[in-house]
Amino acid sequence: MNKNKSQSFSTRAIHLGYNAAENEGALNPPVYMTSTFCFDSVEQGAARFAGEESGHFYSRISNPTQELLEVRLADLEEGEACLATASGIGAITATMWTLLAQGDKVVADKTLYGCTFAYLQHGLKKFGVEVEFVDCTDIVAVKAALTKNTRVVYFESPVNPNMRVMDIAAISQLAHDYNPEIKVIVDNTYCTPALQRPLTLGADLVVHSATKYLGGHGDLIAGAVVGSKAVIDQVRVFGLKDMTGAVIAPLTAFLILRGLKTLELRMERHCKNATELAQRIQQHTAVESVYYPGLKDNPFHVLAKAQMSDSGGMIAFELKGGYQSAVIFMNKLEMIKRAVSLGDAETLCQHPASMTHATYTPEERAKHGISEGLVRISVGLESIEDIFADVSQALQHV
Ligand SMILES: *Cc1c(COP(=O)(O)O)cnc(C)c1O
Repeated sequence: MNKNKSQSFSTRAIHLGYNAAENEGALNPPVYMTSTFCFDSVEQGAARFAGEESGHFYSRISNPTQELLEVRLADLEEGEACLATASGIGAITATMWTLLAQGDKVVADKTLYGCTFAYLQHGLKKFGVEVEFVDCTDIVAVKAALTKNTRVVYFESPVNPNMRVMDIAAISQLAHDYNPEIKVIVDNTYCTPALQRPLTLGADLVVHSATKYLGGHGDLIAGAVVGSKAVIDQVRVFGLKDMTGAVIAPLTAFLILRGLKTLELRMERHCKNATELAQRIQQHTAVESVYYPGLKDNPFHVLAKAQMSDSGGMIAFELKGGYQSAVIFMNKLEMIKRAVSLGDAETLCQHPASMTHATYTPEERAKHGISEGLVRISVGLESIEDIFADVSQALQHV
């Protein structure tokens, strides 16, 4: 394995863990399209099943293409180990099923990606896990929610969709001071390890929708969880192998490895475009407020600067005309696509209340801080002038 921590992020994202000389000189890693692996003997098969000998035996547990992706992602997140999965929700659920049992408690931020919220609210609660949603930007509220049954503290930063930023170091410290066994889980989808590495700030586990920036091209669904080898091993052989079965396909793992090669480069452009767009639309008379931590007057600007190396490619905003104006604005977009998901080359615009966060009832959205008029833009890699021109012409109609 070519493992060299002194190398820069992009160098590791391109080279780490792969040796062409061991693979017929192939510049790119082979895609191991195989469900099973053959044993030399019964004894070898038994040793692999018992975990006494390393080596693959069945692709629901591991596969060489998946393994390369896992080695690389673990390194980029500065974690010990990684498990790649068939979707972001596949990673989140496999992790939670592994860590939780009836009677345990999860403390989660009040605003989460729609299906994560649905899983906590309708999935875990149904199985007797207590879930309390608090405002994790309020450390006192997090502290008050911790109980002796609390096993997991879960949040995103920045939050999908309204861009609140959590103090990862402060929350991790607080939770571990209360009980070192509590697992602090951060969904790092919005930042990617190119901008933020929660494990270095004290979090225990990082989860990802690799569908977004890690893949980066809108052509796959995948996820990952990164953390200590002990916990990742458990998630692999229990949460994934026996509970969700949400295994990543070898070709999908290959496509994410391809995406990782340009991750740092793409994030630079996403951040540059988003910063510029946020500054420009903030001036517009039709715009009520823009939520982007890169803006100097954003309430999370100082914290974001401390824990993120740049402000990311996602912005959210409210129009003065509320919901009706949001609909008009979105329907007038020409180049920019009306679509959920994020982190693609194409700029994508969506309306959380009717799309990604429709898993919340209107009452829940009000309570959890997702306004009906909020518009979310995943700022793509096109020229900022073309992105801005389309946004400007659409704003003229509201
Ligand atoms: C998309 C998303 C998820 C879910 O990931 P899938 O790959 O769609 O299963 C989880 N968290 C965040 C922040 C997301 O944006």
